[in-house]
Parts: sequence; structure tokens; C-alpha cells
Amino acid sequence: MPISREDVLRWLEACARVLAENKDYLTQLDSAIGDADHGANMDRGFRAMMTKLPTVADKDIGTIFKTAGMTLVSTVGGASGPLYGTFFMQAGTASANKLVLAPEEWAATLESAVNGVVARGKASLGDKTMVDALLPSVDALKQALAAGVPLAEALRRCAATAEQGMLDTIPLVARKGRASYLGERSAGHQDPGATSSFLILKAAADTWADS
Ligand code: ADP
Ligand code: MG
Repeated sequence: MPISREDVLRWLEACARVLAENKDYLTQLDSAIGDADHGANMDRGFRAMMTKLPTVADKDIGTIFKTAGMTLVSTVGGASGPLYGTFFMQAGTASANKLVLAPEEWAATLESAVNGVVARGKASLGDKTMVDALLPSVDALKQALAAGVPLAEALRRCAATAEQGMLDTIPLVARKGRASYLGERSAGHQDPGATSSFLILKAAADTWADS
């Protein structure tokens, strides 16, 4: 079954809910190696997104994602606003004019979104950023779908890979973003952005399990 426009809206709502629930957790992670605002940043951005989306709920998936991304850029400061803004705006370009996404189209959309984050932030795998959760998860999703795995299970593998990427950031020394100012002292802490990326991909798996 393809992913419908309504499914996309349900996913973004689930992201807003999960990020609100994890606001203090994300802020706590960011207080260890950053400036203790990641939870507040994500919550503020997705709350603003929830007020904007009703105005485009009858448009194509590309417009919905672009609106989501532009809202994040305009309401979230710091590193994560432009990066997640780019994520959703690139997703919007990849899904322009579509009312449904086949599983492979979702994989291509996610890949474009993640490539946008990499192009914008210039982080590589192992730099202790959201890229460590996002990049491997795209490969996991594509591999699962190529192997004929049903969408629900492919989405679970995608989220599980993001979770592993998130955990793998713990021993790393940060080479991008505020945490890099700490140098070696950033090791031993889980990256907040990798954590929000995992939560967002897990929300997709949970929301679309029945698609
Ligand atoms: P800020 O660091 O400006 O306070 P946030 O706290 O909202 O912004 O977000 C911090 C997160 O942003 C980090 O945990 C990291 O995952 C991500 N990040 C920072 N710089 C980059 C980058 N250049 N590329 C990818 N992700 C980055
Ligand atoms: Mg911060």
C-alpha cells in the first residue's frame, strides 16, 4: 500500500507529539554537549508546523513537506532549524505534485532529504551529528525494499538502524556543531540531533505500520 497525503500529515503530527514528549530529554542531552536548547527548538518548530499544515492539507505531498520545512527554518534558530528545514524542503522537492508515495518513492524522498542535510551541514558519518542516525537509515530502508521486505517491516528496520546510529554517537568526539567546541570532552554523550532524528524515523514506522 502506498503512503497517502493523510499518512504524511499523520506522521508529522506524530513527530510533533513525540518531540513534545521528549522535549526535556533532548534538552538534557543538549545540556551535556551543547547549549540545552535542542528540545525547545524541536518542540517550538513542530508546534508552529502544526498551526501551518491545515492551510496546505488539501495540497500535494510536496507542498506539505515544503511548508513543513519552511516553517522549521523560520521558527527554529541554531543548527537544527536550517538542517531539519532543509530535510523537509528537500523531501518536498522529491515528492512534488504527488498525492501518494509508493514505498520506493518514500525511500527516494527520504534519501533526498538526508542528502540535503549532508549538503547543508557538511557533516560526514562519524562526526557525531544527526547524520549518523540519518545516513545509515536510508541505506537500511533501500536495502530492505530492494529485498522485497514489506513496507511496515522496512520502516522498522530503517528506525532500528537510526537507533543504532544514535547509540553509536555516544563514544564519538564531535567534529561539527557546538559539541565540537568541547573536543574530547564531547565523548561519552549521546548526540541530541541524532536522537531527534531517530524519534522522527521511529514515528514514521509507528504511524505507517498499517499503511
Ligand atoms: P544548536 O547546536 O545551534 O544549539 P540544536 O541544539 O537545536 O542547535 O541542534 C544541535 C544538533 O544539531 C546536534 O546535536 C547535531 O546533531 C546537529 N548538528 C549540528 N551541526 C551539524 C552539522 N553541521 N551537520 C549535521 N548536524 C549538525
Ligand atoms: Mg543546542
